[in-house]
Amino acid sequence: MTMNLKDLSRSLWVFHLNTGSCNGCDIEIVAALTPRYDVERFGMKLVGTPRHADILLVTGPVSRDMEKKVKRIYEQVPDPKVVLVVGNCGNTGGVFYESYNLVGPVDRIIPVDVYVPGCPPRPEAIIDGVVRAWKRLEELGGKK
Ligand code: SF4
Repeated sequence: MTMNLKDLSRSLWVFHLNTGSCNGCDIEIVAALTPRYDVERFGMKLVGTPRHADILLVTGPVSRDMEKKVKRIYEQVPDPKVVLVVGNCGNTGGVFYESYNLVGPVDRIIPVDVYVPGCPPRPEAIIDGVVRAWKRLEELGGKK
């Protein structure tokens, strides 16, 4: 079944967490949200607290000082929830792989549902990841 963001009947709320990114991925996320790509027109929006989110979007490898915070924020997102990791650093450690101050890629700390590779990924790839995350959310019984 082909799905796209226009099929969303309700807004998809996303909490964005930077666990140690260089900000390159974060800039591409901003590009996806702002008028050039404008995913907000489909109802997707960033929210200011994980307690209101459907999707936890993570950028960056997990630095030591972020480990406990990542776990706590993951627990604060209500079920059903989906974790979407954007960028090579969060997926594998990327250019920071095996750095002394990292505890690893995101899936060593919390479960990850959707991976978007790239350094940084283009906005189109991020939007594709959001659609995959939305499909996963539906499988879990979340927003339709
Ligand atoms: S994947 Fe590339 S752009 Fe994204 S946080 Fe890592 S180094 Fe920066």
